[in-house]
Amino acid sequence: MSGEIRISRRACGVVHIVGAGPGAPDLLTLRAAKLLERADIVFYDALVHPNTVALATRAEKIAVGKRCGKHSTAQKFINKRLVDAAARYAIVVRLKGGDPMLFGRAQEEIAALEAAGIRYEVVPGVTAALAASAELGISLTQRGVARSVAFATPRVGEGEAPSDWATSLATADSGAIYMGAGEAQAIAEALVAAGKSPSLPVAVVENASLPSARVFYTTLASLPEIVNVGLTGPAIIFVGPQYRARADGAMVGSADPVYAPPARVAKA
Ligand code: SAH
Repeated sequence: MSGEIRISRRACGVVHIVGAGPGAPDLLTLRAAKLLERADIVFYDALVHPNTVALATRAEKIAVGKRCGKHSTAQKFINKRLVDAAARYAIVVRLKGGDPMLFGRAQEEIAALEAAGIRYEVVPGVTAALAASAELGISLTQRGVARSVAFATPRVGEGEAPSDWATSLATADSGAIYMGAGEAQAIAEALVAAGKSPSLPVAVVENASLPSARVFYTTLASLPEIVNVGLTGPAIIFVGPQYRARADGAMVGSADPVYAPPARVAKA
């Protein structure tokens, strides 16, 4: 016995980068649910519903949430923890809100896993814009009106070049804007500068898929007034001609965004 401690550096686990869906726990895919049941360790984001995390009955559960203004775990640190976990556990789940491949920073995690030679898979989830469209009962691609959709965010990470999101969104028929609720005024100005009409209809959906969901209709010109409704949950801002019918009725004589109930039946 040499007394030498030998540490195996061979990673044996698989990291599953899993979409948790938009919020409601029952909008999880069956594949995701099965993986959570079998998981040894789960790293989950702030927007993931507690009941979804609770499906991982045998796993060690670690919050690595990122929510604006609140405590966050730096992305590099998350990447490292995933790599380390794969060396110790067989089934590692990285649980992300919505779909991992849309504004989910999955690519940085995938790059870190590939660099470390760790096997991974991505399990898609229902992204927020689709759940929000369901709340509205208005299709993102309405026949004859909207044949293209842009998914965009005005948010740029530290050290990133400024984004030309408004131009690309303005060239699509309709747009879904993520992470924009706190910058409504800048969004309205950028879209008008990029060629959209100030009278373009806008729909805002907060907490899509959850019982607390709220829906507002307005125009680009009045979008900055959305601050008056006191959004506290995550929200998607839609722009497009297909929102006109509802928005027109809602906006008469009002500069403020107007609340409309979600197009959803109450759960039995
Ligand atoms: N990967 C996620 C998006 C992460 S970015 C997805 O595919 O949905 C976080 C942004 O998503 C929020 O700022 C908000 O714009 C949007 N979002 C997430 N959950 C939402 C919800 N339940 N309702 C409305 N918007 C939501």
